[in-house]
Amino acid sequence: MEGALTLHGASIEVAPGALETLGLRVGQRAPAHRVALIADQTVAQLYGAAALAAFGALTPTPLLLTFPTGEKHKTRQTWGTLSDQLVAAGCGRDTVIVALGGGVTGDLAGFVAATYLRGVPFVQVPTSLLAMIDSSIGGKTGVDTTAGKNLIGAFHHPTLVLADPRLLSTLPPKEMRVGLAEAIKHGVIADPVYFGWIAANLRQILHADAPDDEMQLQLVRRSIEIKVSVVQKDEREGGLRKILNFGHTIGHAVEHVTGYGVSHGEAIAIGMVAEAILAERMHLAERGLADAIATVCDAAGLPVRLPEGVSPMEIVTATRTDKKAREGHVEFALPRAMGEMAGSETRYGVRAPDADILRALEHL
Ligand code: NAD
Ligand code: MG
Repeated sequence: MEGALTLHGASIEVAPGALETLGLRVGQRAPAHRVALIADQTVAQLYGAAALAAFGALTPTPLLLTFPTGEKHKTRQTWGTLSDQLVAAGCGRDTVIVALGGGVTGDLAGFVAATYLRGVPFVQVPTSLLAMIDSSIGGKTGVDTTAGKNLIGAFHHPTLVLADPRLLSTLPPKEMRVGLAEAIKHGVIADPVYFGWIAANLRQILHADAPDDEMQLQLVRRSIEIKVSVVQKDEREGGLRKILNFGHTIGHAVEHVTGYGVSHGEAIAIGMVAEAILAERMHLAERGLADAIATVCDAAGLPVRLPEGVSPMEIVTATRTDKKAREGHVEFALPRAMGEMAGSETRYGVRAPDADILRALEHL
């Protein structure tokens, strides 16, 4: 591995086989009397034993707490159950919580760590592509409520993020594509060379044949570097961090109107293409940018059109209820060119007239 990355005190490490070093690295970065691993049932079944084995003969033996797999369990109820289990096991302040799993596990276990005894140290072992390159980086933790996603939460930074790209070999292709949509986004917002590299290596990245250590390592590593550098410059979304929202204003609206019937990655793909068209229509972006994004998303098996039965007007209406709408105005993070974002003079939030949004969606 090249030089380790750090963000807000977190050491972020990416290496094939890193899971085997978990015990050692937790011991070094977050020494604690008790280790409590939290995983969903799917990931616990796949990697629970290997994660526990990585702690060797540690006493007391690390706990492995599990919860049912899926976004619908990212709730205060699951948070409560996990917290109660820690209390019942007698875990004190000298406990480190290790999230082993996708973004649901990281957000949930992170929120448990943020609140347990007013906060205990926390380690992220992301196992999905989305968790490796996105949700484990940046310190946001939380749970959903029936009124919306991530409404209750806290900033709580891990002391260590240990990403093992080899774990992607068991990730279902559908989940791989969800993460890939975010990786494509990283290319568009910050690095045209990376965008081109993804486009040229899509087949191997999606491991149509056999998983490729080197390829997965490069993908995870470069995306993490981009997210880290953006977050580092802007911790609480005052400005630059907004560029990570590219594709997400329309993407969230698509998720909302379909009742989350499309995956986050699919919604983001549609959102990126629509928002790039919007940027072109507003004469902010170079011509051809939207086409370039659409071509890669399409080749990755991601949709680039609105789902059947969803009207552009419904999407425009839904964007107004977005968490990030300000004073009723929808702000977009829009690209200027491949690897470069527009709107630096307005803190990267660009207001767009409804008529332009509508026309961009009709153009999809
Ligand atoms: P997830 O955690 O539900 O994982 C997706 C599926 O993949 C699950 O079924 C899981 O069991 C399975 N899985 C994970 N790793 C696997 C592996 N190596 N092999 C086989 N199966 C595996 O969902 P996700 O897509 O990883 O994350 C989505 C969540 O992340 C959402 O709740 C979202 O709000 C959150 N998120 C948070 C942030 C943040 O900044 N905190 C950023 C983006 C997204
Ligand atoms: Mg996203």
